[in-house]
Amino acid sequence: MKTEPSSALRQEYAKYLSQKQEPLKAQTINSYLRSIKSFPNSLDVADSLRQSAFNKLSSYGFKETRQVLESADNYLMLNKKTHGAFPAAANYYLQFLTERESRGYIALKNESESERRFRDWLGKQVYGLSQSTIKNYTKALDELPSSLTTDKPIPRSMYCVDKYQDFKDVEKTIRNAANFEEINKASKGFLQGTLSASLRQYGEFLQYWHDFEILQSDSGDSKDTYEQINNTEVKRNVIARSGQSSFRRRLLKKNSSCELCGLHYSQLLIASHIKPWRNSSDFERLDISNGLVLCVNHDSLFDKGLVSFSYDSGGLIAISKEIARDDYQKLNLNSNMYIQLMGRRASYMEYHFTTYLHIHNLWSEQTI
Ligand SMILES: [Zn+2]
Repeated sequence: MKTEPSSALRQEYAKYLSQKQEPLKAQTINSYLRSIKSFPNSLDVADSLRQSAFNKLSSYGFKETRQVLESADNYLMLNKKTHGAFPAAANYYLQFLTERESRGYIALKNESESERRFRDWLGKQVYGLSQSTIKNYTKALDELPSSLTTDKPIPRSMYCVDKYQDFKDVEKTIRNAANFEEINKASKGFLQGTLSASLRQYGEFLQYWHDFEILQSDSGDSKDTYEQINNTEVKRNVIARSGQSSFRRRLLKKNSSCELCGLHYSQLLIASHIKPWRNSSDFERLDISNGLVLCVNHDSLFDKGLVSFSYDSGGLIAISKEIARDDYQKLNLNSNMYIQLMGRRASYMEYHFTTYLHIHNLWSEQTI
């Protein structure tokens, strides 16, 4: 039978408590174990935070969670009722996790979930990575060289780091390791090459995941109070912007010039959504297959639906009949232009094309 990570961690924590220098009474240990496991269940917080703290495998992750738990409206009331068992238990738990990390603990495989998500993200959201590169990237993060001499403890596997800010700290610690250069040399540039690239991607992934989770957590707010709706709106706008900027960054990395005319001044380039943001699901909003890099001129034509691309004639441009042929040159348009359409991108374009086909009377060279 498979042992759940959370129960393994629970046993390890119990052992830690019983072996402390001033040993705790069995009764106290039991109340701490119970508290860590069930106290969060009664708090007014999101369901995802109510899971047992024993699912939090890193001190970084646990610290974040504890902060949110403490901000729950009924925290003080419940804390009083349970005679402060939770903060005491949580302090020991944090010490326990930190000590464990400083020993370079063997990662428990609940992190395989982060690894799976990361691998999935590399395949779907990063353009043009081969399966073998993805495998090397995921492996590099899992097997962070334990031989690095760092001034602060680092987790044995990066997959226990699930917040971008924590990630930046860990990344800095790794890059500043006293023997970084030496090991990099011995491994024929592995640290500078594969590991660095993989760390960069993991940072992007955490930002993506952050945006994605917030977008999702705001869905379905029909019974919120007026005030909550306002807060949600503010939060949504912030995320919309940060989501779009991580979207833009990832998209421009893939393609740094206008896909129609090749203009490459980044200030004049727009990372457009093919299927508009307002009609897209959270996944579609952050999916770079739903992105198109265009210069301001071509973007405004596309955004208004005055041009689109025919998904069943290989991405050939379709231009509105409202635009006179005499004006093509001024708008830097010609009827032989096309863009690459593959996979999900083709279905996003189908959405755009069919939306504007009749509104603006689109036609393409092949349809006459
Ligand atoms: Zn252009």
